[in-house]
Amino acid sequence: METGECIIKPRHDYGYKPDSKILYDVIVVGGGIVGFASAMYAGRLGLNTLIIGEQFGGNINLPYVVENYPGYIAIGGRLLAKRVEDHAKDYDIDILNEKVIKIETGKNFKVYTKEETFSSKTVIYATGTTLKHLNVPGEKEFENKGVSYCALCEGPLFKNKVVGVVGGGDSAVKEAILLTQYAKKVYLIVRKDKLRAEPINIEHLEGYVKKGHVEILYETNVKEIKGDKLVTHVVLDKSHKGKKELEINGLFIYIGHIPQSELAKEAGVKLNEKEEVIINRNSETNIPGFYAAGDVADTKFKQAITGVAEGVHAAYNAYEHITHCCINGKS
Ligand code: NDP
Repeated sequence: METGECIIKPRHDYGYKPDSKILYDVIVVGGGIVGFASAMYAGRLGLNTLIIGEQFGGNINLPYVVENYPGYIAIGGRLLAKRVEDHAKDYDIDILNEKVIKIETGKNFKVYTKEETFSSKTVIYATGTTLKHLNVPGEKEFENKGVSYCALCEGPLFKNKVVGVVGGGDSAVKEAILLTQYAKKVYLIVRKDKLRAEPINIEHLEGYVKKGHVEILYETNVKEIKGDKLVTHVVLDKSHKGKKELEINGLFIYIGHIPQSELAKEAGVKLNEKEEVIINRNSETNIPGFYAAGDVADTKFKQAITGVAEGVHAAYNAYEHITHCCINGKS
């Protein structure tokens, strides 16, 4: 253990259970890093807090390394999520590993799972996003047979093989780099004529392009994924070396995300044209007491650290909403 780490021991063993008979101060919907950061802060502010999430960790579980979370030069996505979860559990919060199926607004909020209904004075909505699919023939058929959405999980299956990555954002670029650890060749298939990842990630990728380990096919789309039992090739809309068929053993798809905003929308929360929840700088939505944070919100720059900050704002503003008071002496 490094000097200075964990000098303060966790204050108790976690053992709190959700209670549908009490009125919570805050219910956090979503068990990703943003949800747990919100719950951690709400717990720290002494609010009676319940967090309900289906998949703990969320999308930050996917990247093999996170290099832009202050305090960590490089940390595995799963480990970072677990650290925030453990930090939240150090406060007296309740945790439920379930899917939320409905949220109702009223004098108090009602949050429904399949089995139970919980009541709360405020809600922090941090449901994140789901991965976008290509929706081309063969994508469903070959899922887990060469088509993948997780290089960290399935990359090792492609040792010395040839793989394709679709997308031109940070996820595609970073996962293409990860795949060079296994595959002998990685094709990055980008629909535009340029990448739109962070410059530092592009610079890192260029090193692999120079070595011929990665080849970028610009202005190219995958039209179809083909194979026998496993993927053998994809059909492109543009010729590569005179052929529209590109031989690959695996295709990793990183073409962005869809906000999971349906429950908020059904509760009357306003969304933008991208179906993201509209929030202000206090993480407030159009419904008093209903906050949102992280990738589901309409903020432009979506990173773990920005989502966590939005979650902390949400927790603090929930505290003010409930207590009609403030920590800094003015509200
Ligand atoms: P993005 O939305 O940023 O990028 C999606 C990419 O997929 C774009 O290049 C887009 O092309 C392309 N695309 C979309 N639909 C299709 C399609 N049907 N066919 C082919 N290509 C398609 O998603 P990311 O997952 O990359 O990133 C999400 C957020 O997370 C971003 O804000 C990103 O910065 C952040 N992030 C940051 C990381 C970091 O290291 N800092 C790591 C990972 C994510 P086009 O450009 O034409 O729209």
